Amino acid sequence: MTGLRKGLLVVVSGPSGVGKGTLLERLLALRKDCVFSISATTRAPRPGEIDGQHYYFLSPETFNEWVEQDRFLEWNQVHTACYGTPREFVERTRAQGRHVVLDVDVKGGLEVMAAEPDCVSIFLAPPDLEALHWRLRHRGTENAEQIAGRLLVARSELKYMDRYAYTIVNDEIERAESQLEAVLEAEMARTVRVIADGQVQALFHPEPALPNSPGP
Ligand code: 5GP
Repeated sequence: MTGLRKGLLVVVSGPSGVGKGTLLERLLALRKDCVFSISATTRAPRPGEIDGQHYYFLSPETFNEWVEQDRFLEWNQVHTACYGTPREFVERTRAQGRHVVLDVDVKGGLEVMAAEPDCVSIFLAPPDLEALHWRLRHRGTENAEQIAGRLLVARSELKYMDRYAYTIVNDEIERAESQLEAVLEAEMARTVRVIADGQVQALFHPEPALPNSPGP
């Protein structure tokens, strides 16, 4: 292998409560070549959430400054707050050869696909809406009104599923995780990437030193 392979840009979207957080935590614990992109948000931290680890919790004023300074690869208003992907981290980390994983809403996902057509887009789908409702009720971080709002958004987000290259149904976390890993491996083996990364350059030297071929 020659040179440093550029890391993948992995965009994961899916309705609130589908289990994106859990799936991505497992992937990141397992794969040291994958790094999570910490988003900036104007929403308040939930209990246990740490600034700079789960999100960069910004005031609306600071968020707007970042927008004006073009510091986001994409940003969007989701539910009642703004969320954005800091651009510099994504570029630097990919250049270092590590895969960057984004957890963004569908509008953000479409924006990233337009800006970075070589990204790997993955939609995480619930097996059904009842499963989603159940998870939202049991994680206990939203009240009934917020849950109703998130379910409404979930229905509209599902309409964008066909814009994603891959859909993983999160019916069983172990299976979803191994599918996600399989997608990453397959993407790394795409011919266009293998050639772009210079891994097979030696195959195309003008006069390869081949051993004498045996006679008939
Ligand atoms: P939560 O408030 O539950 O952490 O996230 C709400 C939604 O915001 C999720 O669907 C999540 O994917 C999305 N989100 C998180 N970070 C970003 C981001 O940087 N950009 C966009 N567009 N959406 C984000």
